Amino acid sequence: MTKIAHEGYSPTLFERLAAAPHPSLTFQESFWHATAPAGPRTIPLEGEAETDVAIVGGGYLGFSTALHLAEAGVEATVLEADEPGFGASGRNTGFVVPNLLTGLDPTVMRREMGDEHGRLICDMVGQSAELVFDLIRRHGIACEARQSGWIQPVHTPEKLAWLEDRVAQWRSLGRPVQALSRDEAVYETGSEVYHGAFLDPTGGHLNPLAYCRGLAAAAVQAGARLHTNSRVREVQRQGDRWRLTTDRGTLVAKRLLLTTNSTGGGLAPKAEGTQFPITLFQVASQPLDPALRESVLPRDRSAADTRKELVAYRWTWDNRIVTGGLLASPFGSAERAKTYHLDRLQEMLPQLPPLEPAYAWQGRLAAARDFMPRLMRLGERGSDQGWSAIACNGRGMAMTTALGRRLALWLSGGSNEKLPVPVTDPDPVAVPSLASVAFSVWLPWNRRIDRAELKRAK
Ligand SMILES: Cc1cc2nc3c(=O)[nH]c(=O)nc-3n(C[C@H](O)[C@H](O)[C@H](O)COP(=O)(O)OP(=O)(O)OC[C@H]3O[C@@H](n4cnc5c(N)ncnc54)[C@H](O)[C@@H]3O)c2cc1C
Repeated sequence: MTKIAHEGYSPTLFERLAAAPHPSLTFQESFWHATAPAGPRTIPLEGEAETDVAIVGGGYLGFSTALHLAEAGVEATVLEADEPGFGASGRNTGFVVPNLLTGLDPTVMRREMGDEHGRLICDMVGQSAELVFDLIRRHGIACEARQSGWIQPVHTPEKLAWLEDRVAQWRSLGRPVQALSRDEAVYETGSEVYHGAFLDPTGGHLNPLAYCRGLAAAAVQAGARLHTNSRVREVQRQGDRWRLTTDRGTLVAKRLLLTTNSTGGGLAPKAEGTQFPITLFQVASQPLDPALRESVLPRDRSAADTRKELVAYRWTWDNRIVTGGLLASPFGSAERAKTYHLDRLQEMLPQLPPLEPAYAWQGRLAAARDFMPRLMRLGERGSDQGWSAIACNGRGMAMTTALGRRLALWLSGGSNEKLPVPVTDPDPVAVPSLASVAFSVWLPWNRRIDRAELKRAK
């Protein structure tokens, strides 16, 4: 019997300092929680049950996999520790982004992942926003979805060459992206600080928790089983089955997929050790005068700029601005975090009135050190039929949805489409706590660079 649970897991001191959530900025405090329709009614796992594919984690990745498995006729059961969307999927900014982080353009992906996987991942990501909006339409998910486009405004003139190159790379893959001129960028964003912008019209925004709950409902409707309040405490390999233990029940599965993002809590320490957690704050302002929408993001796009500590913002259906980002400081107070991001926005959008943090919350994402998606083998043998997947690099909503679909096609054996992400062994970082420390140093240093670049660009 192989036991891969790691009892007694607790974050290191450095993780606590750099990534620990503020207790007052919880899931329930979010604007999305206040406004999303209820999810499907479910019950915790009790007694012993069996399934073909056990999925641990009820976020976009888990539910997209479960939905597409169920549609392919494969029995899937999702175990979620809390409720659908309790992780990053219910707390993010709601941007639907069909590309990868700045710096991870198609040529880099091909260099890092090899020609074939690089190309497959870029194709998957490029089409991912279309998939999200298509699922929303097909399953009638009420989530305030707007396919109004995603823009990445450029904060220095030096970056314009990069912008042209980025556009050319994605266009060579058939993506309908565009480079916007300075005048267009200023009009689109409402801010004079920008010099141009990348536009992907297939992106947009939505209520992320409502989307996650809707995906969960669609998966259940298609025949997947879902148990909430069912934290998996241990996974064990027994013969040719996986045995998952929760507080009240046991699930026996032929195959196992962990989609726990940064919050697995030690179920698979090696796989979890490949990622480092990043805590992000989110703020929704008070409702503003709707007339302001004519001068700030007039086409209702979502925007995230090219700064290292990027500025990201969007409107909600009831005329609030949602923004957020990294911690104000690793040791910052919750009150400071609430105003820090609104102040940054106000500086570049002077037409806005004083912004108040009507809602503030935070979430944790996980990223591998190279920000690439991963599909990692669990267990000691290649034939163990257990994997851990992450597809979050800060722009994970569309990518996790798309990867879930591909994983389902792969697990159901019903497609000739090649898996875009290679199956690898976990490659944990040698001293995981150092990743958090490095991040705490990275932040102030890169803020200085951003400030210097903006000053030069004026
Ligand atoms: C504040 C913030 C803003 C972001 N903004 C954006 C954005 O605008 N656009 C974008 O594309 N991406 C954004 N992201 C990233 C995006 O939210 C994530 O990439 C995506 O939600 C990850 O989905 P997931 O399913 O992999 O993980 P999660 O949504 O984190 O789901 C993991 C689930 O696993 C459950 N779990 C953990 N351990 C166990 C266990 N032992 N047993 C059972 N269940 C368990 C958790 O409760 C959780 O619900 C943001 C992230 C954050 C935190």
